[in-house]
Amino acid sequence: MKALYDITPFTLLDFPDTPAAIFWFAGCNLRCVYCYNPDIVFGTGHIDEEEALAFLRRRQGLLEGVVLSGGECTTYPHLLSFCRSIKSLGYKIKLDTNGMRPDVIKALIDNKLIDFCALDYKAPEAKMDEICGGGNEKRFWESFKILRHSGVDFEVRTTFHPELLDEEDIITMAKSLKSKGYDREYYVQIFQGGMKTIGKLSLSNRRVDYERLAPHITLRS
Ligand code: SF4
Repeated sequence: MKALYDITPFTLLDFPDTPAAIFWFAGCNLRCVYCYNPDIVFGTGHIDEEEALAFLRRRQGLLEGVVLSGGECTTYPHLLSFCRSIKSLGYKIKLDTNGMRPDVIKALIDNKLIDFCALDYKAPEAKMDEICGGGNEKRFWESFKILRHSGVDFEVRTTFHPELLDEEDIITMAKSLKSKGYDREYYVQIFQGGMKTIGKLSLSNRRVDYERLAPHITLRS
């Protein structure tokens, strides 16, 4: 089975303090209107596990980590065994996830297969369906709870399109995180136009009230 749509051979930006490659898994269980990767979400894989592992063998000593991104890598049915193979080559693993598969996140953690996780907090429950084409906040909170009690380093992040979410939504989300014990930085990235997206979106003209948001979030460019 060819699970990977593509491999980015080198990044210093996507895995904290870790020179890494990015594995882009084809397919996703959501359809976020602002998604920058429609080709990956709707596409099929071109690279199988053996090719990906051969790539990692060639990079041993040059790279230290692998970012599992996509798409949504937790939908790949052989993710655990694939992660074991990656780990056996000495690589650290970062998981990028929308949090809709808490069962998979738990299994990865229980088997000590991930070193860092970036968890997307998409929207408050009332806006999940409109923004993500499905999903539910409950599963996000299950994933959050698993991570929070796991000892695995993680961060929570949100993409903010000012026509889809407003400042009140972001502040509510930040407060919800805090009330559930999140004491790390809550990263918010403002939607950048100019790329193909799943929904027809352009940059918003609405002025964002950054001063209001500042006490609650960390802006990420
Ligand atoms: S932004 Fe949404 S649709 Fe796109 S890969 Fe992430 S979870 Fe899937």
